[in-house]
Amino acid sequence: MPYTPPATHPHLSALDEGLLHAVAAGHARLTGEQAMELFRSMPLPALGRWADARCRVMHGDHLRTYVIDRNINYTNVCNAKCTFCAFRRDGTDVDAYTLEPSKILEKIGELVAIGGTQVLMQGGMNPDLPLDWYLKLLRTIKEAYPQVHIHAFSPPEFVEFVHFFDPPGATFEDKVRWVMVRLREAGLDSLPGGGGEIFAPAVRRKIGLGKCDAESWLTTMYVAHTLGMFTSATMMFGHIEGHADRIHHMLLVREWQDRALALADAGNRTPGNSLTGHYTAFISWPFQRENTPLGRVPDWGRDARELEMEFPGDAVARGAANGDLPEGRRAADAYDYEAIDREKYPTAHLFGKRVRMSGASDYLRTQALSRLVLDNVYSIGASWVTMGPHVGQVALAYGANDMGSVMMEENVVSSAGTTYCLDEALICRLIREAGFTPAQRDNYYDVLRVHDGADSPDLLVTDWSTHRARKMHQEAPRVAKAELTVSR
Ligand code: SF4
Repeated sequence: MPYTPPATHPHLSALDEGLLHAVAAGHARLTGEQAMELFRSMPLPALGRWADARCRVMHGDHLRTYVIDRNINYTNVCNAKCTFCAFRRDGTDVDAYTLEPSKILEKIGELVAIGGTQVLMQGGMNPDLPLDWYLKLLRTIKEAYPQVHIHAFSPPEFVEFVHFFDPPGATFEDKVRWVMVRLREAGLDSLPGGGGEIFAPAVRRKIGLGKCDAESWLTTMYVAHTLGMFTSATMMFGHIEGHADRIHHMLLVREWQDRALALADAGNRTPGNSLTGHYTAFISWPFQRENTPLGRVPDWGRDARELEMEFPGDAVARGAANGDLPEGRRAADAYDYEAIDREKYPTAHLFGKRVRMSGASDYLRTQALSRLVLDNVYSIGASWVTMGPHVGQVALAYGANDMGSVMMEENVVSSAGTTYCLDEALICRLIREAGFTPAQRDNYYDVLRVHDGADSPDLLVTDWSTHRARKMHQEAPRVAKAELTVSR
């Protein structure tokens, strides 16, 4: 039987309990309008309860998972200039780096020593590294540690591989496939969802200077799916975007996931348990502003009169939905927001000139909504790295089933603000105190160890003073190499 997504019921209000029961059971799908209605109108605890209900249908009441992996940011040299990024460097900067393969192997050895199963490698888009550098690196890792899953190279890196390596192929898709097949043969197992940010062209153009557009991002992931590889999807919100842009982003992930699942054979198509490539997880987190150009943009509402007006990102998203803005990245590139009709969109000229930062409640609301909208994505990851361990713990009651990764070290996000570092015992404790049994998983979301006995990492601890969550940004020197270790 071909994969069939759940039916939509656009005539119903999103607050209709019958609809929400059907969504929680996986028998109905929310429309974009219904998602927006939930986001705007449903009290946060109620939204959390529905997301939790959906999560429990998909993952049961018992286990909540984490993975032990290590994020190795192999280079910080990048030819893009994302305004939200404090990590990138030009190749000529004094603190630019590219890790030697021997250093990368050493780090993986440390990961294996603590029971790690996966390495996450992402870097800047470094024009000086040839394809051979990547192929040799992957082969070396697989030779030394064949058991380690290599989760590496997000779509923006792949798009630049196409530019840097000029592979054969008639289309962008062909060229990406050519590169990806070779990297996969050398040892690449799956792709992280970095660089998703916000897909809406107007937002993406403003914050992701030099980074690939949404279509290239999604096409790269689709190529991975056609090759049978698993990937994740991410969203970074709480900056210049409108709320509708977040929902648009989720809907694009859902739509492309439908395509991926439709490729699968009938017997193998269950999300999280499929032999065919697809998105296994969605992780979203709020923008961290420190040390970033975007972080210097004034907050919306500093002037109290602004709060009575529409946030510029919402105005532009509304303009795009009404067809009052040009479609597509190129059109959005050239669009003059100063010239937009001020009668209809009185604040749109301030688009990109104000940020609306996200706090815990906005984060939980967005994550809960993602659980309900993304009916075809198996896992929702809690984002404790940026939000802190206790918000991450609460996120388990707002639709998240997975706590991501034990953190060995941190770099990319910590360059832009305080992030947190937890060891395995602490992650297990957070999960247990949230009312679940912690379980270590692998990249395929298969459970490796269930911690229900006295020898569980958290239950063995007698002195928690040595297991406190560490604030990475405050403890790391400014130019320290950063490694983000939540699996994405
Ligand atoms: S976010 Fe990534 S692509 Fe953008 S500037 Fe930073 S390192 Fe480069």
